[in-house]
Amino acid sequence: MTNSTNLSLIYLDSNATTPVHPAAAQAVMSTMTQTFGNPSSSHITGIRAKDIMEKTRNAGKKLLGIDKGQLIFTSGATEGIQTAILSALVEAKKSLTPNKQYYLLYGATEHKAVPNSLHHWNQILGINAEIKAIPVDHQGKLDLNFIAEHAADSLMICTMAVNNETGVYQDLTALETTIRTTNPHVYWMVDCVQVLGKRNLNIENTSIDYAPFSGHKLYAPKGIGFVYVRSSAPFTPFIAGGGQESGQRSGTENLPGIASLKAIFDILNGDSAHQFSNHSQLQGYRLQIIKALKEAFGDIVLNHSLENTVPTTINFAIPGFSSKEIMDLFDAANIRVSSGSACSSKVTRSFVLDAMGLPAWQSESAIRMSFGPMFNQDDCDQACERIISAAKALKESCLVVSNEINETPLDGLVELRSGNNCCWVYADKQTKTAVVIDPVHELIQRIVNLVNCQGLTLKAVLDTHGHADHESSRNEIAKALGMSTATCHLGWPTDTDCIEMLGQTYSSITIGNHNLVKVPTAGHTADSVSYLLTQKFNGEYQSSMCHFAFCGDTILMGSLGRTNFETSSSAEMYASLRLLNQLVDEQSLICASHDYYNEFATTIALERGRNQLLNSVLSNSIDLDTFCEQKSVLDSHLNDEQGQEIQCGAYVEVDAALKIREYDKDSLARLLKDDQNIKLVDIREPHEYALQRSSNVELNVPMTRLVQFINERSKQKQDKYVLVCRSGSRSLVVAQALGRLGFENVGHLKGGYALGL
Ligand code: PLP
Repeated sequence: MTNSTNLSLIYLDSNATTPVHPAAAQAVMSTMTQTFGNPSSSHITGIRAKDIMEKTRNAGKKLLGIDKGQLIFTSGATEGIQTAILSALVEAKKSLTPNKQYYLLYGATEHKAVPNSLHHWNQILGINAEIKAIPVDHQGKLDLNFIAEHAADSLMICTMAVNNETGVYQDLTALETTIRTTNPHVYWMVDCVQVLGKRNLNIENTSIDYAPFSGHKLYAPKGIGFVYVRSSAPFTPFIAGGGQESGQRSGTENLPGIASLKAIFDILNGDSAHQFSNHSQLQGYRLQIIKALKEAFGDIVLNHSLENTVPTTINFAIPGFSSKEIMDLFDAANIRVSSGSACSSKVTRSFVLDAMGLPAWQSESAIRMSFGPMFNQDDCDQACERIISAAKALKESCLVVSNEINETPLDGLVELRSGNNCCWVYADKQTKTAVVIDPVHELIQRIVNLVNCQGLTLKAVLDTHGHADHESSRNEIAKALGMSTATCHLGWPTDTDCIEMLGQTYSSITIGNHNLVKVPTAGHTADSVSYLLTQKFNGEYQSSMCHFAFCGDTILMGSLGRTNFETSSSAEMYASLRLLNQLVDEQSLICASHDYYNEFATTIALERGRNQLLNSVLSNSIDLDTFCEQKSVLDSHLNDEQGQEIQCGAYVEVDAALKIREYDKDSLARLLKDDQNIKLVDIREPHEYALQRSSNVELNVPMTRLVQFINERSKQKQDKYVLVCRSGSRSLVVAQALGRLGFENVGHLKGGYALGL
């Protein structure tokens, strides 16, 4: 029921895996239904199966120029890598000199299968060599001097022909000269997974000892691969058993997989009616896609050069966008790409690009597009067209520069994030005015685009305090928008109004029919302030009319701002907390400048329920001295909790994840049929929603507008919502946040659009 079902799939992730070539699929089918024999059987069906296997081996040998060496079928490259490393290390172990320092070298940009296998077998075999990563330069080329320095004492050197993230290829001749000049006998493995079909390789002309390959990277099915073993290289079977593959790799052979390889080898050898695109055609496609990306997104930054890379890979970053955001956009446009990066516990970044010394933002924003030699002009044209239409959706949601003023005026609060930093933009649709609070450097372009695209006038660009962990981008934004920067401290304008709240006079700016009131809330830092977005009620400012309280790092979700900086004062924080409690209703939304646990916003009521210290202050059950003592204990544990990162809040306690009702496609369909009151809410960003949506969905509440939505629906917390997103992870996080803030009937669709709606 989604409108993207009309869009054909544009698959640009061939370095991860490929579809099966029709000729390979046919070979698979035929060996599953007709020539299905066991190659070890001596009857005719077995003999025919064996014949297919040997013909495949010969075609592979022809392709790679193998004469004396062996080509052994495996389940894939990971098994080939194990086989090579085990074989080399078992042999090396036989002649180790006691107490000598040995090395196992591998390229710093190698697929993780390589270093992880080296560590594994080094430990299992008790070799205890030092495992060292060979550095690469800016272009991803291995440091030959490093190899020359360490090769003499190395037991094995593992390098790769072509990198899977960047397409960077190594100069195998130069590498060989360096290795063999220093150590003619060291075992040398070259991971050849990404080279097949993209560069020629005459393997027996080299002194490579082991070369693992994988079928599924070049149009064969998953679960089949092969490894080349030089005739002089030692060999230890990784799998023992029935003695298949001349005892070198036991287990009944994967005949369908092997037959599929034959179909691919034949195409590559020119022995098939099918053809692949040639190198210069592939070069042309890559240039055409890069041109389309530039047309679509403006300044893209390539993460590699076009010279030393295979023409089937493009790794790039779009300034101002994380990999995840672009992945979400492309998925909605039915374009499959990869983030080109591995997920660590905190940040998503590419260890390959890090090893190449690229700036952190490029690594965090890396997108990999890859295609294979089956890609043709038609595929390329369609891909380019789709990329451009996906970017158009971004322009319409004001995320990339466009010359047109957006027709859907922004009203209310928008939350922009960079990592755990939260930046808030509040806009008034009638007066087309807005304020920005706590802008971080990474979001400058996005904020400027939003303001320009919406035709907004900024009344102020503000900070809640001088941040310790990042620099404010206040002045850069003001400059980019041609605003006067002659504002006083923290960006607060000089020509403000005065308003009275609870007998005190505060400085305020007007945004439409709301006021943004500046309240000094020192404590976390001496300059800390809170901005309260409020309105008059019956001619008076009342705490119940405070919609949003931008408290910076004074009250954070699950914590209070740390008070162990030089200008901090826990005594002042004590007073600030009590003041906020008077001015801000216990149900008003507190918008902090950090969100470490994806909670979006909080309220004083919620925090009092889980933050004992805050509750004690607000209920007058502890005095100032006790507060300061307890706060200092909390602050002293700060870095233990969060490792290296500067954590701005003294962590108190985070609730256990709320249990959320989960639906799958079928149970959701039943629910919608049975209960007319269910509201399906798509929580993806507007550009994703514009590209693909279900006709059942009534509302689009992007995560950037969630806090505004919570404010608008604060009186309808019993309503029944089921949230949907791309894969079910955002919808779960949002459902938990809503649940925490008192929404009583929120569920989500597990697996999201990916598994069907
Ligand atoms: N080496 C490289 C360079 C790869 O790209 C991959 C697959 O991602 C592998 C090894 C592992 O291959 P397989 O999936 O066949 O085990």
